[in-house]
Amino acid sequence: MICPYCAKDNDKVVDSRASESGYAIRRRRVCLECNSRFSTIEKIEGFLPTVIKKNGTKEPFVPSKLKTSLEIACSKRPVSNQILTDIVSCVENDIIQRYRQEITSNEIGEYVMKRLYEVDKVAYVRFASVYKDFTDPESFATEVANIAGVGNPESADEAGDNAEPAEDKDVDDKRGE
Ligand SMILES: [Zn+2]
Repeated sequence: MICPYCAKDNDKVVDSRASESGYAIRRRRVCLECNSRFSTIEKIEGFLPTVIKKNGTKEPFVPSKLKTSLEIACSKRPVSNQILTDIVSCVENDIIQRYRQEITSNEIGEYVMKRLYEVDKVAYVRFASVYKDFTDPESFATEVANIAGVGNPESADEAGDNAEPAEDKDVDDKRGE
């Protein structure tokens, strides 16, 4: 394994731990060149954790599907493809590292929203509107108002202006008070 710190290929495994699910093994390694420690995860090729959806049904976690929903949320936004790829691989790695065989769609959604929130507020609102499945304009407006309250005035304006047109007015009204 190439050391991520010095790029030499000379390491020793110091610890191996199987995951709860038994589908992955985490190996702690030490680089014999620079003494840095790093971990590798060995998993069954093609193994994908199961996502438990809100209605209780299960389906495999498919990274490309998550990527697609991120792309939709970020369409025409200044968010690079690399950032989206990073978010998806972070979710994937997180699932694997926590040795999980199952994850709820809720956990994935919360994680992605946290990341999108840092990256682009408009994309965040779009993703949240699909993910949180707002059933009425009020709860959507509340979410947007929350963001507007946290962010700086400029990004709040931006989020409001680019959000769903129907809800946009509600947000502006709230902010105007
Ligand atoms: Zn090294």
